[in-house]
Amino acid sequence: DALADAVGTLRLPARIHVGYGVRQQIPALLAEHGRRVLAVVDPFLATSPDFVALLASLEATGLEVTTHTGVLPELPVGSLTASAEAVADTDPEVVLAYGGGSAIDAAKLIATLLAHGGPLSRFYGENAVPGPIRPIVAVPTTAGTGSEVTPVAVVSDPDREMKIGISSPFLVPVAAVVDPELTLGAPPSVTAHSGIDALVHALESYTAAAVPLDWTGQLPLFTGRNVLAAPLALEAIRHIAPFLARAVRDGSDREARAQVALGSLLAGMAFGPTGTHLSHALQYPIGAITKTPHGLGTGLMIPYVLQAAVAVVPSRLAEIDRVLGGTEPDDSVAAQDAVDRIADLCREVGIPSSLAEIGVEETQLEHIAELALNSKRLVGISPVGADPGVLLSILRAAHS
Ligand code: NAD
Repeated sequence: DALADAVGTLRLPARIHVGYGVRQQIPALLAEHGRRVLAVVDPFLATSPDFVALLASLEATGLEVTTHTGVLPELPVGSLTASAEAVADTDPEVVLAYGGGSAIDAAKLIATLLAHGGPLSRFYGENAVPGPIRPIVAVPTTAGTGSEVTPVAVVSDPDREMKIGISSPFLVPVAAVVDPELTLGAPPSVTAHSGIDALVHALESYTAAAVPLDWTGQLPLFTGRNVLAAPLALEAIRHIAPFLARAVRDGSDREARAQVALGSLLAGMAFGPTGTHLSHALQYPIGAITKTPHGLGTGLMIPYVLQAAVAVVPSRLAEIDRVLGGTEPDDSVAAQDAVDRIADLCREVGIPSSLAEIGVEETQLEHIAELALNSKRLVGISPVGADPGVLLSILRAAHS
C-alpha cells in the first residue's frame, strides 16, 4: 500500500505481559497503583485454584482486596450500577479485572461509575467518559475479546433492542497480563466462540477502510485502516488460524493455547485503535434476535462479509491468504482462497454456516440490515460501503 495517505496510531496499556507464568507479575503491577484493590471476578472462576492462589499472593504482598463476583451474563446496565454501589465504600485505588470479556468489561464500567457516577447511559457511544477512571489491571481467562487492551466495553440495556458499546481512551487498562495457563480450563464451545471472535477482530481490523482525517480536529477514536495496527492484525491471524482447531479439540494442548492467547492479544492491540466493521454491525441484531454468543455470530458472518470484499480489497485479502499458508501469486485468486480458508476454519470449530440454522427467518433480514446501519462507527469503516442493498445481499447470501 502507498504510504502517502497512511495514518498510524496505537493506544495501549503501559504494560503488557504474555506467556505461561506471567500472572506472577500481578501483585507488583497492582501495588504500583495503591494498596486497596477491588477484584472484579467472573463468578464461575472466583473459586478456581488459580484465582484462590492469586488472592493469597495479593494478601501476602500486603494488598487489601475486596472481591466482587456480581458479573451477570450480557452485562445488564442495572447490575453494573448495583455492583458499583455495593463496592463504593471500599474506595479502591486499583481494580483487578479477572475473567472473560464479560468480567473485564464489567470491571471497566464499575471503575467508570466509581470515578464519575452514573447513569451509565450517559457514557454510551464514543468519547463520552469525561476523564480517567480507576486504573485497571486486566487478566483474561478466555482468548478472544482483547478487552484487556481495548478502549471498549459492551453492555445490554433493557430499553434497547441491541447490546451497546461504551468506548473511551480512558477505558484502556493500565496493564494487561495474558497467561495462557488461565485459559486451559475453558470448555470447547467457549474456546471456539472466543477464538473466532479474536480472529474476526484481526480480519476486520486488517480489511477496514480508512477514516478520512482532516488534521484540524481530534483523531477519531477508531481510525479504520492504520499502519501501526496492520502488522499486529496479520500477526494475530498467523498465531490464531493454525492453532484454534487444536485448542478446541484438546483444551490441554499448551502450545495451541499459548498461540491462540498471543493471537487474541495481538488482535485486541490491532482492533482497539482501528475498530471492526460489518460482521460486528450485523452480529449485534443477529445476537439480539437469536440469543447466540457474539463469536458465533461474527464467525457465521465473516466469510460472507469477506466474500463481498474480494473484489474491493483483493490485495489485503491476498496478504491474509499468504499468512494462512496460501501460495497463489495472483491477488484476486488468493483473495478468494483466503475467504475459503476462513470459511473452512469456522466450520471446523463448529460455527454454523447459515443464518437459517440459528433460527433467523428470511423475513427478518431487512430489519437486521436496518439495525446494523445504526452502528455508524462500524459500518463507517466497512470496506464495501454501508449501502442497505449491500448489507441485505450479504445477509441473503448468509441465509441461503
Ligand atoms: P465471557 O466472559 O462471557 O465468558 C463466557 C463463559 O465462559 C462464562 O460462563 C465464563 O464463566 C466462562 N469462562 C471464562 N473463562 C473461563 C475459563 N478459563 N475456564 C472455564 N470457563 C471460563 O466470554 P468472552 O467471550 O470472553 O466475553 C464475551 C463478552 O465480551 C461479551 O459481552 C462481548 O460483547 C464482550 N466483548 C468485549 C470486547 C471489548 O473490546 N471490550 C470485544 C469483544 C467482545
